[in-house]
Amino acid sequence: MSNPIKAIVITKDENYAAALSEVQQGDLPDQNVQLDVLYSTLNYKDGLAITGKGPVVRSFPMVPGIDLVGTVSGTSTDEFSVGDNVILNGFGVGEKHWGGLAQKASLNSDWLIPLPAALSPKQAMQIGTAGYTAMLSVIALEKQGITPSDGEILVTGANGGVGSFAIYLLNQLGYNVTAATGRMEQSDYLKELGASQIISRDELSIPGKPLQKERFAGAIDSVGSHTLANICASLKYGGVVTACGLAQGMDLPASVAPFILRGVSLIGIDSVMRPKKDRIEAWDRLASLVKADYLDKISTEITLEQVIENAEQLMDGKIRGRVVVNCQS
Ligand code: NDP
Repeated sequence: MSNPIKAIVITKDENYAAALSEVQQGDLPDQNVQLDVLYSTLNYKDGLAITGKGPVVRSFPMVPGIDLVGTVSGTSTDEFSVGDNVILNGFGVGEKHWGGLAQKASLNSDWLIPLPAALSPKQAMQIGTAGYTAMLSVIALEKQGITPSDGEILVTGANGGVGSFAIYLLNQLGYNVTAATGRMEQSDYLKELGASQIISRDELSIPGKPLQKERFAGAIDSVGSHTLANICASLKYGGVVTACGLAQGMDLPASVAPFILRGVSLIGIDSVMRPKKDRIEAWDRLASLVKADYLDKISTEITLEQVIENAEQLMDGKIRGRVVVNCQS
């Protein structure tokens, strides 16, 4: 019989609990690709799942971890071979299918994409869903025809995972980036990432006029609510904003005026169920744009033993940057 593996397991009997446990390999889900998980990460969603602070987990017991990179150890499909390195982001993994915070995983081949040759496994998880979602947002602006010569691009939630990657990627591509943040004391860090202007998020988070001074050619928003409404109202004629998040709120108290009078566009970004070809495009772009020194600066590495403590710190807002979990150490 094969040895048991280490995994974070969330249970819900009388109480909700997460613990580092031993799992029999025969208890892994019955899917068509088996993997040795090299690295996973701690996203906000994983923090919610592990601490039980949000209704993320939809069946129990659950192994959390919405992101992973691993090496194929067995497969019944032609799409991948033993020894291939693959990436998984989303698809309900870590929510309704067992996820990445374990030494091994068993996953559906439809959810997996090849690790780009230019990225190491660790780098892929330093990027994780945050970087991948930022890349999808940048690609959406490009596909709408927004170029660096069009003018300022606003990024909200600037110190967050998605926001900080968006600033970095836009700057790498030559855009003039304005960062909106609630942490003005982090201005130097945001400038190091590539922001040219920093504004207080307070300017955007309160109710505003339906049409405001035309300022931004484009925007990447992870905040929603009044912030997104104010962005729509201050885009230039033909401007584009992408919306991926709800850090301020799920509401959108906006008017149609910017859409019908200035022809602006609001593009929704979902990373979880994104088709495979878009994922491959985004990861290939990330591999060509992101530099190793940047990834090392924004991330720390932990082991599976340290996951629960780090998830609690994440939920208490005590962690800045990306947390990468080495699942084999
Ligand atoms: P983080 O928690 O890392 O960052 C969110 C940032 O938003 C914070 O750092 C803060 O930035 C800002 N913020 C927090 N609260 C408020 C508030 N009340 N008003 C305005 N700004 C606020 O999250 P992520 O970057 O990982 O994710 C951002 C959002 O995107 C989340 O809502 C997440 O659920 C969503 N998301 C969606 C995905 C998708 O597929 N659609 C994928 C990934 C994430 P600062 O301190 O600089 O102000």
